[in-house]
Amino acid sequence: MSKPAFERENAAADAALRIIRTIAAKPEPLNYAVWYTYAAGESLDLKAELDGYFKSKTPITADVSEAMFAKYIASALASVADQATRQKLDDANERLAKTLNAVMDLVAAGSQGTDTFAAALDRFTAEVGAVAEPKLVSAIAAMVSETQKVAGLNADLKAKLGHTAAEVDALKGDLSAIRKEAYTDGLSGIPNRKAFNKHIDELTAAASAKGGHLCLLMTDIDKFKTFNDTYGHLAGDQVIKVVAKTLAHGVREADVAARYGGEEFAVLFPDTKLKDALAVAEKVRLAVRAKEIQNRRTGESLGQVTISIGVAEYALGESVEDFIARADRALYHAKKTGRDRVCSQADLPR
Ligand code: GH3
Ligand code: MG
Ligand code: MG
Repeated sequence: MSKPAFERENAAADAALRIIRTIAAKPEPLNYAVWYTYAAGESLDLKAELDGYFKSKTPITADVSEAMFAKYIASALASVADQATRQKLDDANERLAKTLNAVMDLVAAGSQGTDTFAAALDRFTAEVGAVAEPKLVSAIAAMVSETQKVAGLNADLKAKLGHTAAEVDALKGDLSAIRKEAYTDGLSGIPNRKAFNKHIDELTAAASAKGGHLCLLMTDIDKFKTFNDTYGHLAGDQVIKVVAKTLAHGVREADVAARYGGEEFAVLFPDTKLKDALAVAEKVRLAVRAKEIQNRRTGESLGQVTISIGVAEYALGESVEDFIARADRALYHAKKTGRDRVCSQADLPR
């Protein structure tokens, strides 16, 4: 990051805090994000809307800030297209926090120095006082009082900076929560398609660079349309949660189980050979069909659901699309040959 960009972002961070104080808004992460975006000119629409409030002298309440955040920031953070903006915001905050920490350290060192100095002077004053040289005693008393004033100012500054650093910390926590949300499927709580895309890009790149085995499982719930039509969409959602949970629990910590689409899921198995991934797939298939689906409201049993699975192993250097397409073809083959089964890329007709 170039120096002017760094300075610009720090200036925007300062401006954001200043506005928050001026309009007496709460110094909390949401407000900071709104005013940082405003000051950095990162969203012209947000700026125009907020300028409208200023112009008409309409107070900017907590509700207004929240609405601005939801309208212009949360949506941007959640969209992949805006990953760059998110990264920039993250970077800026990290740098701001670092700068503040450095200043805090300096001030802490400085005020500790003056504290010690003041204490030493105090002791010295008492000692000298005992020997009594009135002029010297009063000169020293004046020095002590000046030193104590400086120490007091430093402590003030330290407290203020501490407060700002806490705000920045809270903001960082908030941003990481937002990021986590952007990568999580709302219904099932497991990683979403966006997270899957990121992982498959990273894992295929790592495998191509270092060598090694990487497998992909694609699965789709069997006859799910019929299930929805029979028991309703809410019961269908229940099934999606059960399948997601079963998948996530059935694989290792290092594996990535994600909701790929509506009723489709994908699992990435790093450092795993095809035959081992197939064994896990079979275990997961059996675990799903062993579950009895219940209507959560009435407790009524809705029977079982089954899934079809396709598994492929990454051919080092091939494109992510080709890799996914092969797992997809294996899944399609499992559907075509009777469903409720696992098919491997090796089962595909040449
Ligand atoms: P197949 O065995 O060939 O996969 O048959 P299918 O009926 O499962 O396949 P189809 O693609 O025709 O239907 C998929 C269904 O999944 C249709 C859609 O309504 C349902 N579905 C997708 N996402 C959700 C969801 O989030 N909740 C619920 N309840 N249903 C969903
Ligand atoms: Mg489907
Ligand atoms: Mg289906």
